[in-house]
Amino acid sequence: MSESIRSVEDLSLEGVTTFVRVDFNVPLKSGEVTDDTRIRAALPTIRHALDQGARVVLASHLGRPKGKVVPELSLEPVAARLAELLDGGEVRLTDDCVGDGARKVVQDLRDGQVALLENLRFHPEEKSNDVDFAQELGAGCAAYVNDAFGAAHRAHASVSALPRLIEERAAGFLLQRELEVLEKLRADPPRPYLAILGGAKVSDKIGVMEALIGKVDALLVGGAMANTFLSAQGHGVGKSLCEDDKLALARSLMSAAEEAGVDLLLPTDVRVGKSVEDTTADDVDIQSIPADSMALDIGPQTEALFRDRLRRAQAVFWNGPMGLFENPAFAGGTLAVARAAADCPGFSVVGGGDSVAAVKQADLASRFDHVSTGGGASLEYLEGRPLPGVEALKP
Ligand code: ADP
Ligand code: MG
Repeated sequence: MSESIRSVEDLSLEGVTTFVRVDFNVPLKSGEVTDDTRIRAALPTIRHALDQGARVVLASHLGRPKGKVVPELSLEPVAARLAELLDGGEVRLTDDCVGDGARKVVQDLRDGQVALLENLRFHPEEKSNDVDFAQELGAGCAAYVNDAFGAAHRAHASVSALPRLIEERAAGFLLQRELEVLEKLRADPPRPYLAILGGAKVSDKIGVMEALIGKVDALLVGGAMANTFLSAQGHGVGKSLCEDDKLALARSLMSAAEEAGVDLLLPTDVRVGKSVEDTTADDVDIQSIPADSMALDIGPQTEALFRDRLRRAQAVFWNGPMGLFENPAFAGGTLAVARAAADCPGFSVVGGGDSVAAVKQADLASRFDHVSTGGGASLEYLEGRPLPGVEALKP
């Protein structure tokens, strides 16, 4: 991590009202948290602050309420889950993240107590990085800790404007760990360093592809984004998802890889179906994708090719599923890559909401060296772009 950023351990927090930006953007179903990974990930920082005697004011966004109050996106279920995880400790949820009610709750906190501000994105000023709103959010707080890696690439008020207003600011343990891991990959990866990219669109990942071509020894491409490359090479891709306006870009990425001496590996075979709901799959070579079919996963030859590369890798960064893994008929390629990356002798990192979901579904998370809590943030960091939430922590 950048030397100039302090760690939460460097702050003296006893009796200090401390604003802690966390990423509690968890999946909910009928008012219950269905996956509490993100809440657990923030616990070390929260516990540390409480042990030091801080008065902790937690804040997060949840979902996309678009600047309005959406009762279904209240952080209430999160407060309940957090209280359980803190061994039944009380978590006071404010009715709004700013205003008199919130201020009163914050003022009444005693050392070692926790408040959670209601969903930050109920106010449009959060996303517009409004300084007055940031001032209100941080009212009464004398220290600021960011532990929300998943939001670090957003220039939002709680992430960017607010920390600049508070002198005593630092990174939490989760943010520190994320930055350490990604910095290792960005600056000094053990070699061979291999990146696996998949997912829906090339256009989502152009920046990171360009950056990775300068860094990795091999780039393995699967998922729907591979179709755009296959089409650019002149293969018919039938009804597959393919970005026809990105063919020239795909060609230029292929020649950039060639010039850099980086192996850009595309599928040699794919698993096709007639539709995304299809329950039967056919394996075909990329030369023979039927015109009425969609390529929905990588095929077995490609699995073997990718597996073989992964066996020899000393560092691996993976983002994006190899296929439409939500449909079990097309999950095989993603699971094969997940297993091979987990088994790989080198340092393995996976990031991205869907990729991480696939890794967890296969119960492989503990076998990765690092499972990033931020998809977009990890890609932007590897691209070399400054993250607003990290920049704002600097002196
Ligand atoms: P992540 O969340 O890990 O960053 P993305 O959001 O970029 O990944 O992409 C994940 C989505 O891409 C998944 O919904 C998956 O079903 C879809 N996808 C991957 N491969 C294909 C394919 N061949 N055809 C259609 N959709 C695909
Ligand atoms: Mg996704």
